Amino acid sequence: MLKPYFCDQIILTELIPFMKIVENKVALVTGASRGIGRSIALRLAQEGADVAFTYLSSVEKGEALAKELEEYGVKAKGYRSDASNFQAADQLVTDVIADFGKLDVLINNAGITRDGLLMRMSEEQWDSVININLKSVFNLTKAATKSMMRARTGSIINITSVVGIRGNAGQSNYAASKAGIIGFTKSIALELGSRNIRSNAVAPGFIETEMTDAVDSKAVDEWKQSIPMKRGGQPEEVADACVFLASDLSRYITGQVIQVDGGMLT
Ligand code: NAP
Repeated sequence: MLKPYFCDQIILTELIPFMKIVENKVALVTGASRGIGRSIALRLAQEGADVAFTYLSSVEKGEALAKELEEYGVKAKGYRSDASNFQAADQLVTDVIADFGKLDVLINNAGITRDGLLMRMSEEQWDSVININLKSVFNLTKAATKSMMRARTGSIINITSVVGIRGNAGQSNYAASKAGIIGFTKSIALELGSRNIRSNAVAPGFIETEMTDAVDSKAVDEWKQSIPMKRGGQPEEVADACVFLASDLSRYITGQVIQVDGGMLT
């Protein structure tokens, strides 16, 4: 007779190529109309998750994404919702649970930049970045963890940045918001680990999206040369790390910051 562990190995070896790693999970992704959020939503759907997602100004792109996600045979729905608004975030989570029945995974991805040297930075530039990048993470996490605590399961994934780890001239508002996300992520991991709710952050380096299209091409070339892998990252490469953290493959990982940066901060 085969030993049990050997049986397990055979079953795993045979099943892994056919398994979708987030099947039967419901995920909510903020800011999925473009860039990294869109790739996260698509990868989650490919891997079998039902996907709720938000957008704010890109209404047409948001509506089109729901149809694309459904092509993977999962349930998908887009919501127009401002992640920086506390009441709207609470209502969003209520709506998602009413529509999907539960919420297993929250990915706080929505974010903006309003760059400028401190000397020239306005109060509006500071407040908008802190509210959309950092307060949004508080808003959504607070709303989502109510049902996750009842279910005694959940994975929260917050998109920070390498800039939140090392700072960046001209981005003091953005760096402060992303460093704040790391402190928040680790605190929630400590608060909610005993309820089987995990909280991790993903720190992308230079990823080619509309956000980085705005950067001067000479500066981009210099950045690329300073990256050990000598290229910018693709949104799908960030999405892969998020799918891992959303799945049970990462079930004993919490309070961590995973850098997806081609070795930029090594
Ligand atoms: P992006 O292409 O500019 O997309 C940003 C997304 O956030 C859009 O879908 C946008 O939706 C949404 N959004 C903005 N404000 C929102 C709000 N108040 N409520 C809800 N959604 C909102 O940016 P990205 O490059 O994909 O970046 C995604 C995340 O990764 C951000 O948190 C960013 O800081 C982080 N990140 C990016 C890089 C990079 O190199 N690209 C590096 C490190 C970290 P609408 O268009 O519908 O308004």
